[in-house]
Amino acid sequence: MKGSWDTRIQRAERLAVERHDSAELLKFYATLLGAQKQIYEQLRSLKGWLPSGALERDLSVLRTMAPGLIETVEANAPAALASEARSLLLASQSDLDQVLIEYWHAPSDLHFFAKAFLQPYARWLSETGAKPGNRNLGGGENRCPFCEGKPQVSVLQIKEASSESGGRDLICATCLTRWPFRRVVCASCGEEDPSKIGYYHSPEYDHVRVEACDTCKHYIKAVDLTRYGFAIPVVDEVAAAPLDLWAREHGYTKIELNLVGV
Ligand SMILES: [Zn+2]
Ligand SMILES: [Zn+2]
Repeated sequence: MKGSWDTRIQRAERLAVERHDSAELLKFYATLLGAQKQIYEQLRSLKGWLPSGALERDLSVLRTMAPGLIETVEANAPAALASEARSLLLASQSDLDQVLIEYWHAPSDLHFFAKAFLQPYARWLSETGAKPGNRNLGGGENRCPFCEGKPQVSVLQIKEASSESGGRDLICATCLTRWPFRRVVCASCGEEDPSKIGYYHSPEYDHVRVEACDTCKHYIKAVDLTRYGFAIPVVDEVAAAPLDLWAREHGYTKIELNLVGV
């Protein structure tokens, strides 16, 4: 699975050239993905150590990898985030641990550092099967079956006719696990009435659409692989940032902000 980080990085770099309106976001995202890949590779390369799935226990190994990502953000992020990075570099070990543990048990998409740092860890947990045992975030079909995280993006693709979800998956914002989810259902509140679920898409982003629910006023973006098979959902989702603007202007709140805060 090492390749998947490279695939995301290359896609972000390519889109940064092609998409002028979100080029800065994509350049930053590509750099961030590079820092995440390093964490993932460090975790993978540890001899004789596998994560337990209990963050409090795994932190003794994990925390040494935090400064690399924080320094990358300090050097590349927009001013506000860079200054947050500077203060984190000065934080004590126990303060940093606290930030990570709090996020793990009560995730918020506004906690950029914890989310960015714990994503490669959570990915590694899912690949090694070390299921996080004590997150208690509540289950439900709209939650990741592995880590109970919220969905970041919806994916449309062709599946066998017998497939229950009708070719729609959700991708976890925390561990990037992908799971099937029924096609015409709100990924936030579970609304099933098709008249309450609206879709918006614009010609500039032909393979990405907003899926918005008028019952709970939440939305998620979907990347349609049947329209463009080379898309990398979590990256193309970032590139289509102008669609988020449309959704916000129409009163919808995103289920989970992505790592560039959109
Ligand atoms: Zn997950
Ligand atoms: Zn809803």
